[in-house]
Amino acid sequence: MSAVCELCFHHCTLDEGQTGLCRARANRDGQIVSINYGKLTALALDPIEKKPLRRFHPGSMILSVGSFGCNLRCPFCQNAAIAASGADIPTRDCPPEALVREAVRLRARGNIGVAYTYNEPLVGYEYVRDCAALVHEAGLKNVLVTNGTIEEQPWRALLPWIDAVNIDLKGFTAKWYRRLGGDLETVKRSIALAAQNCHVEVTTLIVPGENDSEDEMRALSAWLAAVRPDIPLHISRFFPRHHMTDRPPTPVKTVYRLADIAQENLQAVYTGNC
Ligand code: SF4
Repeated sequence: MSAVCELCFHHCTLDEGQTGLCRARANRDGQIVSINYGKLTALALDPIEKKPLRRFHPGSMILSVGSFGCNLRCPFCQNAAIAASGADIPTRDCPPEALVREAVRLRARGNIGVAYTYNEPLVGYEYVRDCAALVHEAGLKNVLVTNGTIEEQPWRALLPWIDAVNIDLKGFTAKWYRRLGGDLETVKRSIALAAQNCHVEVTTLIVPGENDSEDEMRALSAWLAAVRPDIPLHISRFFPRHHMTDRPPTPVKTVYRLADIAQENLQAVYTGNC
């Protein structure tokens, strides 16, 4: 029997045994299940600034976990080894209880909680939700680093468990988002909803010749300021990766110029990878 995954706007219709576009969800016995549940490809204690979050418990550490799969197809993906992989990638099993035990053990080293990151964590929605509840029970924080490509109802249901989020806003045109396999309006809605519920920071990777115009940054930062002018924006430099090796890294002066423009609208703008 076929089934439809309602987690993101792709609404994959999957036949029995078939896996969705994100490679992390599949039809098993007529039900959509997360096939990356508790299957970790990465586990590390990172500085919170690396997420990047600059205004949420600065100077602290956070236990960062990743699995596999993503519901976008960015040709410049910086984490393609895990984000563009499926269930055939080597993983280690880590049920929520074991993850939280590790997070609590690492308190002594400055850990404040768990960050769901590296691949797109929302395609493993159920794992994030189950871990996040236990993380809060243990008195720790939940941080999500996401592309924000999720339908409204599951996003609203998850947000009460999330303390801070960094959401990619990969540009500000529908055309660019279409090329990445995403939807600009969905991401804007995710940012706006998150801003009503938790600490939010936003990251924009500047790809030369694609989303690097001053007008686009003006529009992006003005929209973000209308959501809340104190949302920090991270403007990050592109390096050739994955399927986008046809151009040089973003010139540093472009990143600084776009940061100056964003600062006309926003109170906190940071440059990254410069
Ligand atoms: S989360 Fe994955 S399976 Fe579900 S609709 Fe999106 S891409 Fe398809």
